[in-house]
Amino acid sequence: MSQPVSLSTHGPVAVITMDKPPVNSLGAALRAGIADAVERAAADEQVRAIVLTGTARAFSAGADITEFGTPLAGRDPHLRALIERVEQTQKPVVAAVSGQCLGGGLELAMGCHWRVALADAQLGLPEVKLGLLPGAGGTQRLPRLVGLEVAVNMVVSGNPMSAATLAGTRLIDRIVTGDLVEAAVAFALELLEEGQPIRRVRDLPVQDPQGEAFLQFARNTVATTAGPFPAPLKGLEAVGHALTRSFDDGLRLEREAFQALMVTPEARALRHIFIAERAAAAIPGLPEGTAPRAIERVGVVGAGMMGGGITMSFVNAGMPVVLLETTQEALDRGLATIRRNYENSARKGKLDPRQIEPRMALITPTLDDNTLREVDLVIEAVFEDMEVKTAVFRRLDEVCKPGAILASNTSYLNIDRLAGCTGRPSDVIGLHFFSPANVMRLLEIVRGAATAPEVLATCMALARRIGKVAVVAGVCDGFIGNRMLARYGAAALGLVQAGALPQQVDGALQAFGMAMGPFRMGDLAGLDIGWAARKRRAAEAGSGPPGGIVDQLCEAGRFGQKTGAGWYRYEAGRREPLPDPLTEQLIQAWRSAQGLVAREVSDEEVVERCIFALVNEGARILEEGIAARASDIDVVYINGYGFPRHRGGPMLYADMVGLPKVVRCLRHFAAEPGADGSWQPAPLLVRLAEEGRSFN
Ligand code: NAD
Repeated sequence: MSQPVSLSTHGPVAVITMDKPPVNSLGAALRAGIADAVERAAADEQVRAIVLTGTARAFSAGADITEFGTPLAGRDPHLRALIERVEQTQKPVVAAVSGQCLGGGLELAMGCHWRVALADAQLGLPEVKLGLLPGAGGTQRLPRLVGLEVAVNMVVSGNPMSAATLAGTRLIDRIVTGDLVEAAVAFALELLEEGQPIRRVRDLPVQDPQGEAFLQFARNTVATTAGPFPAPLKGLEAVGHALTRSFDDGLRLEREAFQALMVTPEARALRHIFIAERAAAAIPGLPEGTAPRAIERVGVVGAGMMGGGITMSFVNAGMPVVLLETTQEALDRGLATIRRNYENSARKGKLDPRQIEPRMALITPTLDDNTLREVDLVIEAVFEDMEVKTAVFRRLDEVCKPGAILASNTSYLNIDRLAGCTGRPSDVIGLHFFSPANVMRLLEIVRGAATAPEVLATCMALARRIGKVAVVAGVCDGFIGNRMLARYGAAALGLVQAGALPQQVDGALQAFGMAMGPFRMGDLAGLDIGWAARKRRAAEAGSGPPGGIVDQLCEAGRFGQKTGAGWYRYEAGRREPLPDPLTEQLIQAWRSAQGLVAREVSDEEVVERCIFALVNEGARILEEGIAARASDIDVVYINGYGFPRHRGGPMLYADMVGLPKVVRCLRHFAAEPGADGSWQPAPLLVRLAEEGRSFN
């Protein structure tokens, strides 16, 4: 393996280059390499100044968070000690910054005596996004360089700023162009020539006469916006210490706060999901170095709700799309919706209005499927009906060029059956987008029995290109997300049957942190879609019409938000769900018809039943190999189903609650009279609980 740090000399200036792909995360080996190089440069009599730099992509994107909580994080030199050594060097040290300079990377750059940067370098302290605060002096050095206000904004928001924006503060001594290292060496030579004394950030004062007043104002603002997270306020307090305490006291307090946050469940969950999203990109069984195919032009079949959003996802990434429909009317409607979405974004200031026409121009609308001859990948988003879809796939197989990937956006249907009706099953794959497809980050990539590794690799790369988080799933009814959602929905309905009202179930789950309870979600998506499917299945089976409570709501014309009533009622033009006595009457009549007497249901029971139902089905999905790892399931639930990020996903939540407790609860539910078999705890769950292990 090549060394992560190299040392070269340019006259009297030593250049230390960090090069640990992809982003110079400051793991133990890189830290040791930097410390060693600094020591050698300091000891070399020919060397009079030092430049520390990274790669074009990153000076350093920060600490290696996979080391957190392991002995490696503390291995000598730990990050704080390294920064201290750099700062205490008796020769001027200049950081030469390009690309990402984040977290521990920025803290290291602030340990240097001066900093030069390319204008587009991104500097920030994103620790708050992991439920933490900067733990290696960031909260003490940053206000000394950019002032209290900018430092608070950076620490509390976690958002990076460009070097160009920060020019004029002491954080950026010079914006340079051209060759970064050359410019940094020239800067160091100037310092030597001018005989500049070494400037250590720790010795600079934080000058702000209005400092206390600003901190008070900031405290009030942060307290109202931070929600259940302790990190933003702790970060703010730490920055405040830079104003009122000595540097060393400030460092100590920062450290204490960092360690306290590190062990909070929120920080553990946020760290988990950060690592999980990266881990999801590694696909077991995919030969290393599998080269993706080039995808330049995309086809989308169906300009409905999903087809339109999928088209926008590609267009937003600058990729041309051929959009196919069956009628001019449907095509016009689809295009008009896309245009309206862009216009709304422009009105909200999220899109430059001048971008609208160029984006629309990337779409080639057509009624002629021969237009798909030129595309490299086509995504089918027509009605969720096997017959309609197989007809589309047969035709795609005829018109698409050899090597083109044929994908389906189906929510539930069997990808292998679709593949089987083409002459190229290895080129067929599921690309399951979530609604609204141009907004939701999740993409479930469904790997069929015959899907070629190369096709899978291509779709993973494509997902990255359009800014999606991709998770690979195997073929089954509903894949990872919707298969689990079915159990969750059944648990919610079971609670209503037992005695809860929709608003109580939604309220308890929303208090837990779900973006939206299942009944509100049903009203939003439309209750009629499932009803139509149930009626069709009943007719096919020759049984009577379905008579569940949802079917009764639909019989009464209550399809959800779009008809002004569903589980809830809605006032004209408003989306706020209002509890409805009529729903309550229907529910009571439904219970009575089954001879059931309503009982008290606690909020705790609501959460346990609904979330453990997810966990149990997740365990089955893992056991069957539909998901490769528990953390993939967490990524699906957080990015596609509104599961609260600060709880880390259903599987991590189960780990934190303790699997023995989950198993106990499930056994209790399974033992109740009339309970269906799905409450039996999954064998994998039982095994892990018995062995004292966890999912993650
Ligand atoms: P939709 O009814 O809004 O759109 C379907 C479109 O396909 C219609 O405009 C129709 O005219 C067009 N169409 C039908 N047959 C066609 C053909 N042969 N050639 C070209 N166009 C054809 O449906 P939708 O909600 O966009 O769902 C589409 C697919 O996406 C379904 O498989 C669905 O299960 C899946 N999906 C939906 C959601 C969701 O939340 N709605 C989420 C994920 C996946």
